[in-house]
Amino acid sequence: MMLYRKYLYKPLRIRVRFLHSEVFKNIPKKKISSAPIFSLAKQWPNKIAIVDKFGEHTYSSIYNSSVTLSKVLENYLHGETQECVALFCPNDASYVVAQWASWMSGQIVVPLSPFHPESMLEYFLNDSGAKVILTTAELEKSIQPLVKKLKQKHFVLEDYVTLNYKPLGKTSFEKNNEVELFEQNNIINDNQFFDSDAVIIYTSGSTGPPKGVLLSHRNLNSQINSLTSSWGWTNKDVILHALPLYHIHGIVNVLMCSLYSGAKCVMLPKFNANDVWTWLLAIDQYYGYRVNMFMGVPTMYVKLIENYEKMFEKNDRMVEYIKAVCSQKIRLMVSGSAPLPSTIFNRWEQITGHKLLERYGMSEIGMALSNPLNGERIPGFVGWPLPGVSVRLVKDDKVLVEGNSIDTKVINTEAKEKTGGYIGSLQIKGDNVFKSYWCKPESTKKEFTEDGWFKTGDTAEYVNNNYKILGRTSIDIIKTGGYKVSALFIETIMLQNKLIDDIAVIGLPDSTWGQRIAALIVVNKDSKEIDGKKIIKELKLWAESVLPSYSIPTVIKVVDQIQRNAMGKVDKKSLLKTSFKEYLENV
Ligand code: AMP
Repeated sequence: MMLYRKYLYKPLRIRVRFLHSEVFKNIPKKKISSAPIFSLAKQWPNKIAIVDKFGEHTYSSIYNSSVTLSKVLENYLHGETQECVALFCPNDASYVVAQWASWMSGQIVVPLSPFHPESMLEYFLNDSGAKVILTTAELEKSIQPLVKKLKQKHFVLEDYVTLNYKPLGKTSFEKNNEVELFEQNNIINDNQFFDSDAVIIYTSGSTGPPKGVLLSHRNLNSQINSLTSSWGWTNKDVILHALPLYHIHGIVNVLMCSLYSGAKCVMLPKFNANDVWTWLLAIDQYYGYRVNMFMGVPTMYVKLIENYEKMFEKNDRMVEYIKAVCSQKIRLMVSGSAPLPSTIFNRWEQITGHKLLERYGMSEIGMALSNPLNGERIPGFVGWPLPGVSVRLVKDDKVLVEGNSIDTKVINTEAKEKTGGYIGSLQIKGDNVFKSYWCKPESTKKEFTEDGWFKTGDTAEYVNNNYKILGRTSIDIIKTGGYKVSALFIETIMLQNKLIDDIAVIGLPDSTWGQRIAALIVVNKDSKEIDGKKIIKELKLWAESVLPSYSIPTVIKVVDQIQRNAMGKVDKKSLLKTSFKEYLENV
């Protein structure tokens, strides 16, 4: 508080004001809900909530299955609440049922990825202390070895619930009594949830193994309210979901905003450029609705552009058709989780007529800054604070800029850069900000200032009333394909391999992935005779069993020695210039 007061009340301070409220004036005022997401389903029992590889699921059928499963959980946990329940489900309606059932019975969900190696899953299960795993018949086999090893309780959804859906292309549902059942089931008291914990999302810090970000229902509601009002969500929207469901982007921005709004969410098992184009253009689909929203990480847009260039670009009529369909039928396309290069912004506009809406956020805070729904979107900029979020820039303990969705003030005009902007560390406050890292009070404390602001670890510039993300404060955080990974964590894991004596991991700039992961390694003395290429091949293969695929170094160089300073630290900035010069030239 002291620090804040000191600069806020500085006598000769000049304030430059910009009213963001102008930009938000066209956004309809919406009643802010404090109810957990599943209880909103009562507003639209007959509407289709999820479209997946099986078919169409209504809000009432998802709700009813969730009530059934929540009773199974309640029984198993003897009525205890706020226990961790791991979700090991595919991207389809079963994920939603597992999530809602856990919340109905008052538990905390821990979403896990079927694409993570066993050792990572083991870490997440142990760290969270999950009491039970909810999985499906499709995925049970892949979690079985771990279940046995850890003697972990698990439930297969199909053993307890039968999902009622209408197969795609068919005209009726198998059962029709979902709405009546829903009326009987609809007995849950909403208010008990608001201050309880809802989800743990694992994220990489710059040091140590991944940390669990604990978000309460209050945090989630604040994040969802802010996004649904700013981006004009309604129950007429149909969003295409191709993001992972263990990351904030896929969980909150797409799935939860959609279910909160009574919209339809078309869930793809995973991202595939062909499938995304098929849905965006409504090729082969006659379901009486079209996708009108899409959100992705920059790498997805790169892949979609590559696919377009291969499949459609040579056909003039197709080029015209794609631009017409996208600009007339799709109302919003969003990019985030990593910087969107202006080349991609421009190319996407050329292809689809859409200026991508870029936003900024992270697991710990949900979304904080966004370009406007209606208004100018400038490539390279992430806009300004979303409703309910306070944002400030700090340099050398001085607050330079501070504001919210209504108003931003420059507090320290002396800090003006030659560009006309203000550069500092980005800090965030609001109901959107997470409660703590799971069971890590010391790490939590380190990430907050004394007056309660969360230190994002990103450096930003405020220029011309708009924010620009300049990068991570730590070089050890790498963003690849939208995934956040810790160089130090990869080093620790890779050092477990006896072939490696020393290692330095670094992010190289890359036009498709944002950054790609590179490693310099010093080979163990006893293995020096083995051919370098063979070692690299062996290491990459081995890494697949211990690291998620997006964390595996794709560039590995064998060197005799890695320079370290007296403290044992590697100067990674100079390493980048000396050892990976060729990767810097074409960027
Ligand atoms: P995660 O918690 O995995 O979502 O990662 C959050 C980090 O992604 C942030 O701290 C930023 O470094 C980065 N990030 C998210 N959105 C953007 C963006 N639009 N531009 C640049 N970096 C971003």
